[in-house]
Amino acid sequence: MIRVLSGLFWLALYLAVVLSPLLLMLMPPTPAGRTFSTELSAALGFIGLAQMGLQFVLIARFRPVTEPYGIDIILQYHRQIGLASLALVSSHAVIAIAERPALLGSLWAPGGGRTALLTGLASILAFVLLAGLSLGQRRLRLGYEAWRVSHALLGLLMLGLATAHVVHVGHYVSPGWKRLLWVAFAALMAGVLAYLRLLQPLLQRSRPYRVVAVEPDRGRTWILAVEPEGHPGMRFLPGQFAWIKLGNSAYTFQEHPFSFSSSAEVPARLEFGIKELGDFTAGIGETRLEIRAYLDGPHGSMSIDRYPAAGYVFIAGGIGITPIVSMLRTMADRDDRRPALLIYADDAWENMPVRDEIEALARRIALDVVWVLESPPEAWQGETGWVTAGLLERHLPDERIQRHFFVCGPNPMIRSVESSLHGLGVPSRLIEAERFTLV
Ligand SMILES: Cc1cc2nc3c(=O)[nH]c(=O)nc-3n(C[C@H](O)[C@H](O)[C@H](O)COP(=O)(O)OP(=O)(O)OC[C@H]3O[C@@H](n4cnc5c(N)ncnc54)[C@H](O)[C@@H]3O)c2cc1C
Repeated sequence: MIRVLSGLFWLALYLAVVLSPLLLMLMPPTPAGRTFSTELSAALGFIGLAQMGLQFVLIARFRPVTEPYGIDIILQYHRQIGLASLALVSSHAVIAIAERPALLGSLWAPGGGRTALLTGLASILAFVLLAGLSLGQRRLRLGYEAWRVSHALLGLLMLGLATAHVVHVGHYVSPGWKRLLWVAFAALMAGVLAYLRLLQPLLQRSRPYRVVAVEPDRGRTWILAVEPEGHPGMRFLPGQFAWIKLGNSAYTFQEHPFSFSSSAEVPARLEFGIKELGDFTAGIGETRLEIRAYLDGPHGSMSIDRYPAAGYVFIAGGIGITPIVSMLRTMADRDDRRPALLIYADDAWENMPVRDEIEALARRIALDVVWVLESPPEAWQGETGWVTAGLLERHLPDERIQRHFFVCGPNPMIRSVESSLHGLGVPSRLIEAERFTLV
């Protein structure tokens, strides 16, 4: 209930900030003799700018803001609404220029009009570049860290230029306090970015961790263990994740999200199961012992502690097992006897991370495991192929709506499992999914 109320509160605050420019526009003195389309253009521009500014808050990982919705949903929203803001500010420019094509002439005439136009157009250009780099990151083979630096810099540039545009155009921002409000808004949003990139690392430096183990597991996966240095460690809910930085500096842009795979009952030693995938994870096995680690977390809302139920169904694909094994280990440490079913799919028996641990857990708690192999060995008697509706139908308990469902794996698997579960009568409110791709 508290989460719902807090979610509604942040939504109301968000809408209030986005719509407040309209209120400001209506407050006298207002410019006289303007057409409807000119007013519309101004309104679109102001709302677009307010949305653009608020994106800095959305990505700042403030837990009270992200918790009610889940950080993946917030980032998804950031992506969609970012594009919507681009559409708003572009429509603002198109309508304004269509209404008064002579405006373009001021590009060549020195003076305030030219600065106003140039700052506006440059801001939209920065926005287009930012959106293009985000949408085309993979195709352009732009590394994640380079993309992140460019995203932050272009975001700041676009906000600064757009605010300068508002101040130079001067409509609806006199008297001076209205101008000041817009400048303060932009400064506050830039301050939020400074908090994320400068203040947070400083706080992390006062709560460092040290790498105490890097051990190989099946399927090109490594178990990285860290222990807190000079503080009690991080309390997390089983199923949550943290952003991890390895090495001496907390100021690096090389920061990756990984789910805790250890028990939430043991905060003095945190473990992560990390699969070799790209630049950073390919070298994870070479991480030196005793080096520093900095953690930003815990984040995420996929946890048995958030969704009390009579029992659970966990569905994992490949490395998606990590948050699930954390929940199972925590249940074992708490001597939690509620029934749990794990459906764990991977390509081959030999590649399944934490397989031995799961077999051991099945002896400690009321856990049934269904192994699903894409390429089974010859004598394999168990399930094969994908996690289909038919497979789920064969194994789900009859009292399935008494249980809560957690799904983690590749995106296509999550989509297909969610739709199969719906088909089998499991409502969305009983299904939580964790996606390992945020960008
Ligand atoms: C909530 C969450 C929990 C995760 N838990 C685990 C886990 O327990 N075990 C595990 O092996 N993997 C996990 N991942 C995935 C892991 O973060 C990526 O595999 C890793 O960051 C890839 O980095 P790379 O440089 O090796 O690969 P790259 O080839 O650079 O990246 C591969 C893809 O991973 C994503 N990615 C890369 N860097 C980041 C980053 N810093 N932040 C967000 N996404 C990034 C991008 O989509 C990128 O296209 C999780 C991801 C998320 C979002």
